[in-house]
Amino acid sequence: MAYHRRSARPTNEASHVVVVGGGLAGLATSVWLAERGYRITLVEKRGRLGGRTISFEVAGVRRLVDNGPHLFAGCYDALLRYTGTIGTRDRLLWDAPPFAVRTGPDRLLTMRSPKWLPRRTHRVLGLAWLAWPPIPLRDRPAALRTWLALAAAARKPRPELDSVTVDRWLHSIGAPRSLRALVLDQFVIGLLNEKPERVSAYTFAQALHFLTGRALAGNLRAGDAVWPRVSLHELFVAPAEQFLRDRYAEILTGTGISDVVLESDCATGVQLSDGRTIAADAVVLAVPPWSLTTLIDHGNLGRFDEFAPARKIEAAPISSVYVWLDRPLRMRRLAENLRDTTIEWVFDTGGMHGDTADGHCYALAVSASYDVLHLKNAEFISRAVQSLHQHYPDSIDAQVLRTHVIHQPRATFSAQPGFEDLRLPQRTSIPGLFLAGDWTRTELPSTMEAAAESASRAVEAVVQCLGIRPPSFRSM
Ligand SMILES: Cc1cc2nc3c(=O)[nH]c(=O)nc-3n(C[C@H](O)[C@H](O)[C@H](O)COP(=O)(O)OP(=O)(O)OC[C@H]3O[C@@H](n4cnc5c(N)ncnc54)[C@H](O)[C@@H]3O)c2cc1C
Repeated sequence: MAYHRRSARPTNEASHVVVVGGGLAGLATSVWLAERGYRITLVEKRGRLGGRTISFEVAGVRRLVDNGPHLFAGCYDALLRYTGTIGTRDRLLWDAPPFAVRTGPDRLLTMRSPKWLPRRTHRVLGLAWLAWPPIPLRDRPAALRTWLALAAAARKPRPELDSVTVDRWLHSIGAPRSLRALVLDQFVIGLLNEKPERVSAYTFAQALHFLTGRALAGNLRAGDAVWPRVSLHELFVAPAEQFLRDRYAEILTGTGISDVVLESDCATGVQLSDGRTIAADAVVLAVPPWSLTTLIDHGNLGRFDEFAPARKIEAAPISSVYVWLDRPLRMRRLAENLRDTTIEWVFDTGGMHGDTADGHCYALAVSASYDVLHLKNAEFISRAVQSLHQHYPDSIDAQVLRTHVIHQPRATFSAQPGFEDLRLPQRTSIPGLFLAGDWTRTELPSTMEAAAESASRAVEAVVQCLGIRPPSFRSM
């Protein structure tokens, strides 16, 4: 077990919070609580921090490679605040909204507007394109009605929509097939990492509500794509670890917790898998629902019915293959969404990082990847390269220098109908016990923003419960 400790520690006056889980939610919770002067112990069961935003070394490549490409949007306020706190905002690359649909070698549908138009007009034209894509003339009235129905759902998401899938809902409002095939279905999959025939229409409406709400609140860049210029480790993890060490937090990796310690039904600490106990004034469980289920099944939390909904939450997969080529694909955008191929997204990772020293690196990704999850690597790579050949003629003669496949069976939660009732609030009924994580109650889909937003809410709940103690650090 790795055990990192600074040669300085806070005085005992500060309240002590144990945060369990070193993914984005746990990191943001720890960072924001440490910023407010709390004494933090962060416990992560894996050998290192990062959770689902983790980066690896790949043989022959100098840069770290992420567990899959991650996009965030200009409306991810909580996540942007987190990068501000840990000082990595300058490692972000702001790009135009990700409306770039490639239907063939020479056909990229994307918002195009003259550069001399003001930025605000670019966004409006982009939305107009999205609303009026090149579909048959006869489908256009139905397309218009569909967009109006979507706008109404986004304005005020109706909870009854949580009983139907997006597929059934789109069918019921008469969404034309052509619109779905060109834009809508992939939009749903990209936003929610789930197939329209599985995902809740309410979760979709809420995601639209969130996106449009932040745009209408005056954030003109709400829909812009924001790309990491560096690996996720360098963007979110290593700087947070440093931030915490600088504030004398204790970081335990390589050991999980096996239980929450309760005294008179109040949380007073955690039991580690190696048998040790850590006492705390408050405990924040920033673990995914499937890990919470293990704690419920084998520990004290099993006595409390309020956690039972977490058992029902299922996961959805994402599969990616990183491909290094000896030449560029000459993409027009940093990310393009492909049609009629195995691969759904091509990300120009080398272009985002501004580095092609090890070859031109592209991340080819499939969301809700049930269809490719069980393919042998060789078969998945072959289909991925075939997808490139179909859409990028330059790839046909390119030499593939190396490839790296990553299947993440539990990439996100799967928001199926009824999901909204399964989301638990950050404040539990147990005094001193709080939850965080992308799946806990926010209005957001399974995203980094949901993880950061849940952390923000958990921090407020902890502060309300413990009160603010001023920073009280001293050197040993
Ligand atoms: C391939 C991929 C692509 C993605 N793409 C995007 C994207 O483009 N945009 C976007 O916004 N989001 C994307 N996501 C989703 C996003 O990464 C997640 O929503 C977010 O990272 C979840 O963070 P979290 O902290 O809630 O959970 P996690 O990152 O899962 O963190 C939970 C942590 O808790 C630890 N843990 C569990 N049990 C215990 C225990 N008993 N004791 C101690 N520790 C424990 C786990 O090891 C883990 O480190 C993607 C995810 C994947 C996998």
